[in-house]
Amino acid sequence: MRMATFKPGHWAILGGVVAVALLPLLVTGRYNTNVLLLAGAWAIAALGLTVVLGYAGQISLAQASFFGIGAYAIGLGTVHYGLNWWLAFVLGLVVAVTGGIILGATTLRLGGHYLAMVTIGFQIIFTLVMTNWSALSGGPDGITRIPRPPFFVPLNTAQRYAWFALAATLLVALAVHALRDSRLGRSMRAVRENEIAAEALGVDTVRVKITAFAISAVLGAAGGSIYASGFLYIAPDTFDFGTSVQFLAMVLVGGRESVAGSVLGAGLLTFLPEWLRELKKIYLVVYGSIIVLVIVFMPEGLWGFVTLLSRSLVRPTPIPPARGALPMGGGRPAGEPVLVIENLGKYFGGLKAVDGVSFTVRQGEVHALIGPNGSGKTTILNVISGLYAPSFGEITFLGRSVGGQRASRIARCGMTRTFQNLRLFRELTVWENVLIGAQRAGGDETAIRERAASAIEFMSLTILAHNRARNLPYGTQKRVEIARALAGVPELLLLDEPAAGLTQSEKQDLVEIVQQLHARGLTMLLVEHDMSLVSQLSHHITVINFGRKIAEGAPERVLAEPAVGEAYLGNREAARA
Ligand code: ADP
Ligand code: MG
Repeated sequence: MRMATFKPGHWAILGGVVAVALLPLLVTGRYNTNVLLLAGAWAIAALGLTVVLGYAGQISLAQASFFGIGAYAIGLGTVHYGLNWWLAFVLGLVVAVTGGIILGATTLRLGGHYLAMVTIGFQIIFTLVMTNWSALSGGPDGITRIPRPPFFVPLNTAQRYAWFALAATLLVALAVHALRDSRLGRSMRAVRENEIAAEALGVDTVRVKITAFAISAVLGAAGGSIYASGFLYIAPDTFDFGTSVQFLAMVLVGGRESVAGSVLGAGLLTFLPEWLRELKKIYLVVYGSIIVLVIVFMPEGLWGFVTLLSRSLVRPTPIPPARGALPMGGGRPAGEPVLVIENLGKYFGGLKAVDGVSFTVRQGEVHALIGPNGSGKTTILNVISGLYAPSFGEITFLGRSVGGQRASRIARCGMTRTFQNLRLFRELTVWENVLIGAQRAGGDETAIRERAASAIEFMSLTILAHNRARNLPYGTQKRVEIARALAGVPELLLLDEPAAGLTQSEKQDLVEIVQQLHARGLTMLLVEHDMSLVSQLSHHITVINFGRKIAEGAPERVLAEPAVGEAYLGNREAARA
């Protein structure tokens, strides 16, 4: 069957090409063609928001200012300065990228509502400057008689220009769609789902967020440039805060993570006002209500709703089979120091959570870190993995001093971890979670996929690969977290209470997993509360209490020490009192 090799993606491209070819023929009349042009230009800018908001999860209410930058680059560049259209276009993209990077850099310090406020500020400043700085912008009257770009044939009719604009929209849509499942796109979605976990798996979250803003700005400007030459006239009030909100609505109505959704949303919100024009006074009420209803009742947007219906029809492609055993790092002689901690301290204000702890984790061993609740175990793991900067002390990992470095940097040196309170990328599938973990060890997409497939098989998750992480039972989610960490082929694996919350049989599985990993030479630092697990698995134990080390050595000896018993018993009695 010839048709069987024609994948859904190919149908989408074919459909897109047909739509680009036919729409300018079907939508006729100067006015309607202009609306079509507007839909194309807006869709391009909305696809920028798909990247920054849909993929990377960063709110931006400044997209209209990037749209305006692109439009003004064409307007000013060609009309005022007599530049070639394409040169003006590229200059606009450069200015937009610069603005995008500046805006993205604010996410280093701010997130959520604060970020929204900053982007609104950016937007308002843009509108004010373009309205009031007449010498630069032509003032509130805007710029007229903007030329169209030369493109093989003269684009002098609205219809020809519509073909050009829609073809550009299709190209951008395909590129943004391809980005989604690329390395960068997966990193963006990891940042959206759980920034801390992403960072701890080696994703440079700062770079990823700034890149998302830069791409979004470029697409905003590209849309604006196409708009300017479509309407041949621009004025600052087209690029105000209201337009930014409209871009946001397009993406939310269509489905924030889907390219088809954003294009659909842009098309709908461009044509809807035209269709509703008959309603005169109540038009805005109906328009607003439609948006609100879609967002409330279809949280994943119109396209999300469509995919929900089609999910039962389209079977996902199976993940590639695991080729060979789970790859392992290592290659160092057993017993060599992997992680050396000297006089490590972490104070939270007056609270001495960790207060001068030293120990060494050696190649090939399972090193247990135990102590009563609140004694500072998780804090030690957080400092080692770079989520907290140490207050004092030295951390040496594989011969390099890593204390105070960013988590992603330390992860890239070869350390991965799991979390006491699960930190999965909840909306992503098991497969995607593990792929992101596999990216740590580098290599091309094939290598990443192979590592991910072996880690998934090793953790017996193959049949669940296409399930969303959040839909899995707790014990399974914990296995996904381990698979995600293993796929990055770490030199050292940090496990924070992997058995907590597991059933007895799940605990037994965990024991076998850790034993197998040990047999393959993986070095592990294990924080665990279940003493039977600790005594079965560990070769060396460090005991801490109130942030200080109270005992260390071989399991049988350490567990028999009176001080250790007292720390646990004392705590239990304190808890009872
Ligand atoms: P454990 O993992 O051994 O149960 P933790 O390392 O989680 O203990 O906590 C040690 C102490 O540090 C506790 O008193 C806890 O309340 C405190 N602590 C942990 N993280 C923070 C933080 N981010 N800010 C303030 N105090 C913290
Ligand atoms: Mg803890």
